Amino acid sequence: MSRTDHKRLFLPGPVEVRQAILRAQTTPMLGHRMPEFAALFARLQDKLKSVFFTQSRVYVSGSSGSGLWEGASRCGIRNDQKALHLVGGAFSERWALVSRANGKRVDCLEVPWGCAHTPDMVADALEKGDYDAVCAVHNETSTGVANPIREIGQVVRQHADTFFFVDSVSGFLGTALRVDEWGIDVALTSSQKAFALPPGIAFAAVSDRVLERAQDIANRGYYFDFLTLEKSLLKNNTPTTPPIGLMFAADAQLDVILAEGLAARWARHRQMRDATHEWALSRGFGLYAQAGYRSDTVTTVANTRGIDVAAMDAFMQRECGIVMDTGYGKIKGQTFRLPHMGDCDMDMLNEVLDGLDAFLESAQ
Ligand SMILES: *Cc1c(COP(=O)(O)O)cnc(C)c1O
Repeated sequence: MSRTDHKRLFLPGPVEVRQAILRAQTTPMLGHRMPEFAALFARLQDKLKSVFFTQSRVYVSGSSGSGLWEGASRCGIRNDQKALHLVGGAFSERWALVSRANGKRVDCLEVPWGCAHTPDMVADALEKGDYDAVCAVHNETSTGVANPIREIGQVVRQHADTFFFVDSVSGFLGTALRVDEWGIDVALTSSQKAFALPPGIAFAAVSDRVLERAQDIANRGYYFDFLTLEKSLLKNNTPTTPPIGLMFAADAQLDVILAEGLAARWARHRQMRDATHEWALSRGFGLYAQAGYRSDTVTTVANTRGIDVAAMDAFMQRECGIVMDTGYGKIKGQTFRLPHMGDCDMDMLNEVLDGLDAFLESAQ
């Protein structure tokens, strides 16, 4: 496919990836036992620690983000204890399922889709039960809800044996996440959302106390075992063959991100969010997520006008060469999502919103 045939992705993952980053993947290959690889690993480790705001470590996984769900659950929840999963959308639901599929005992603290979990709800649940971990999704990509992770972290910290695991797959690098300061024990993410990398590589910041606990947990598996990853990390390496091309891309993308500056990057996402909200409301649509908890990286539009989302996507592909989202899971069609994440900027967003206006006019 030539570049001109390429349809730009306006999806909440995978997102559009810039040419320079795609090209970084074609850097001539290294063997992962070569010193040059250790140098790449170490360089990447420093940058990852700085963007996760952690002093501990960040594992690099040759998988999508879901793999690290398994890692967090298997290594961080003891087999005779329970985890509390905060569930309120398709991804938080699935993570609870994944913990169970790995043999863990799970209680779910559920809120209706579109609502956030508040610190009070979590405090209440932690009064009533003993939990090894609270598992929360930072940015629920299906509903467009951003959970108050920092405040929930303050509550979890009141319970010494309860660890805090956070999925920031679609929040990380689009909105603030400060691992050490917020008391997060595992913060995991994928590459293909606000990180704006191709899919296939995932990252998890992991605290020392998770590693201590993991030593006494049986059946941690192999591929996502944090202790196995740790042993290699100490040698600037990975236990199995890593996605080296994607690591080159991540290294290059982190330079771009650090040059933009995290504060500026978060502000850019916030600005795109505000413009998206204004567009949706002024065109007679609703916002699916509860006020006060709306994501900086993706807006889930309530399709109160009842537009045909498949026709909308077809129109956008034909007229603008842009692929649109048509909603996720049980709220597909009843909602559609406008992602404003990664390297998307106001120009790209305005192009999409102008295209949508043209579609709305044509559909009158
Ligand atoms: C996309 C997404 C996932 C799944 O990530 P994969 O990289 O596809 O495994 C998990 N959680 C959230 C919040 C997501 O947006």
